[in-house]
Amino acid sequence: MRVALILLAAAIISAAQPVVDPQLATEISQIKAIDNHAHPVRPTWGSDKDMDYDALPVESMDPYTEPVRTRRGSPLALEASRALFGDVQDFRARKKQLMEEKREGYANWVLDQLGIETMFANRVAMGAGLAAPRFIWVPFEDALMYPLNNAILAAKNSDRKSFFADEDRLLKRYLKECGLTEAPATLDLYLQKVVTPTLERHKRGGAVAVKFEAAYLRPLEVADVPRSEAARIYSGARALPVTESAYRMLQDFLFRYIASECGRLGLAVHIHAAAGAGGYFQIAGANPMNLEPIFNDPKLRSVNFVMLHGGWPFTGEVAALLSKPNAYADFSQQTFNNYPRAVAGVLREWFEYAPEKVLFGTDAYPFSVEMGWEEAGWVANKTGREALGIALTEMLRDGEILRERASEIARMVLRENARKLYKLP
Ligand SMILES: [Zn+2]
Repeated sequence: MRVALILLAAAIISAAQPVVDPQLATEISQIKAIDNHAHPVRPTWGSDKDMDYDALPVESMDPYTEPVRTRRGSPLALEASRALFGDVQDFRARKKQLMEEKREGYANWVLDQLGIETMFANRVAMGAGLAAPRFIWVPFEDALMYPLNNAILAAKNSDRKSFFADEDRLLKRYLKECGLTEAPATLDLYLQKVVTPTLERHKRGGAVAVKFEAAYLRPLEVADVPRSEAARIYSGARALPVTESAYRMLQDFLFRYIASECGRLGLAVHIHAAAGAGGYFQIAGANPMNLEPIFNDPKLRSVNFVMLHGGWPFTGEVAALLSKPNAYADFSQQTFNNYPRAVAGVLREWFEYAPEKVLFGTDAYPFSVEMGWEEAGWVANKTGREALGIALTEMLRDGEILRERASEIARMVLRENARKLYKLP
């Protein structure tokens, strides 16, 4: 009886205290967000198809064990489709119809449904229907790190094989945009005629940041290699096939060169720093602790780095790394792969250290027919806002922050931190 009464009392208390403070929940739902990282797809009709949403599309990977939330048949996809497209039988037909109706306004309409004002579009190229100021470009720069023959790296496994074929194609595209058909003979010329002009073109194209998917291709540890050594490796590779370790040194030099050019051009550097898709993904290599020497390089102190996906599962490491003046983190992808309670735990840990360096993100991505970028964006947006609400409510109830500060952090994380970092209007 006593036990039953205690249980009843506990139930009443928890009923009286919703997981998210209602006032905070309302505020959070009304904040127009800036989404730090996503892969929106260009609206298309007729036979047009958009393939520029990723430099390394994960469609062609070998099968692996996906997180429960993202598996085929996940109830979240249906929930998202219903919320976005209404209670219809055929979501694909409805989506198509909406695209035909709204044409180049379709993607803006999707953002309106999510309460997202600005979405960072991590894409190879932009295009009609994804226009500024609602969509801001974040191009890919990994291809610039791989100017030599990539056969030795592609031979590692089937996923790397398709990734390096993609990178080879993208570098060809960049070379062509620079008026070249192949990489120049020396490193100096390569930097002068390809790397710097590509970054400058991306900046002119509206980019405010660039993205590295490096962790899909190699570990994130980057040595400080002298230019003369990198130049010798670059030129030597034209006569003799390069070893993997020598090639790595050239890549390391190129990464630091690109990062420093980004600093000069006022572009932030986004780095995939978390576990990634695929059964061959090297999780240990993606640990953001590997980036510490980069953050600590005095020559790169003025370059702002954003650890995309917040390092998951190394989220405590990210909290510590936020002490670097040039380090930031977003919680995109976590908002898609993980449940709100788990994401809230991560956020709270970061908020107790550096809430001014935490950025909201969805990683909205066209995963499948059922889970398009629209549905993925809806799921991640909902989870992200819930997680934010849970984390701030807990801090409020534990007396760590006052209500006013909770509201302020919500606004900072959903938009103000990004506005400041990227100098948005
Ligand atoms: Zn992404």
